[in-house]
Amino acid sequence: MPKLTVTNAQIFYDDSIEAVRDVSFMVPPGKVITILGANGSGKSTLLKAISGILKPEKGALVAGSIQFGDEDLSVTPSDEIVRQGIVHVPEGRRLFVNLTVEENLIMGGATRSRADRAQSLERVYTVFPDLVDHRQRIAGYLSGGQQQMVAIGRALMSHPSLLMLDEPSLGLAPKIVEQIFEVIARLPAEQGIAILLVEQNASLALSVADYGYVLERGRVAFDGTAEALASSSEIQEFYLGMS
Ligand code: ATP
Repeated sequence: MPKLTVTNAQIFYDDSIEAVRDVSFMVPPGKVITILGANGSGKSTLLKAISGILKPEKGALVAGSIQFGDEDLSVTPSDEIVRQGIVHVPEGRRLFVNLTVEENLIMGGATRSRADRAQSLERVYTVFPDLVDHRQRIAGYLSGGQQQMVAIGRALMSHPSLLMLDEPSLGLAPKIVEQIFEVIARLPAEQGIAILLVEQNASLALSVADYGYVLERGRVAFDGTAEALASSSEIQEFYLGMS
């Protein structure tokens, strides 16, 4: 996988709201990188900029660059970004709630051949065995945790090399969060996937990440290895609410 490199990114909404001020970070192949920070610190905006879903009229990268290997993502259409191997699981999951679990998963493999889709489906059911019994159920009737599994499974259907997860633990029961994070921790080694993880739950995110960045009002206030961030008392007390 090419390396994702965000350099001095500055992102505005409506020409005036500066959501991201001067942010640089990297996601190397096969690593789990987490972006932490309070509400409104710019985390989701960064993911949207990477996946190309910020529209010029709603938000724009006004300075800096977002590169995936040699590819300049700031000028690449979002469907092409998916084909390059970057898939975004947005906050709130955005499933097709009237379709079945399997129909949702198949949507994620829309760009692949029929044979490849069948194989990918089996792979997703291996990653999330709990979904097998629910494959013909309407997605909207599943629990929040099961829906999150479908959302991640749908993303895996396109064989990403970089999976971006926005708040995967939000609103879910602790037990199912644990299950989902076990999968997140395993994906790099088992499927060769890098993960860019945005989380409010800092201790959870740092438990699976290799490296983390703490955003504060659109800027990187701290960065370091997950171990260093988790053990820094300053970060725990002031930024992560872990004390
Ligand atoms: P949260 O966890 O609440 O989503 P976040 O760290 O992901 O927080 P962003 O959603 O990236 O933060 O928001 C960063 C800043 O940009 C905030 O000040 C927010 O109000 C603003 N913002 C986000 N989306 C829009 C939008 N569509 N239009 C205008 N301003 C926006």
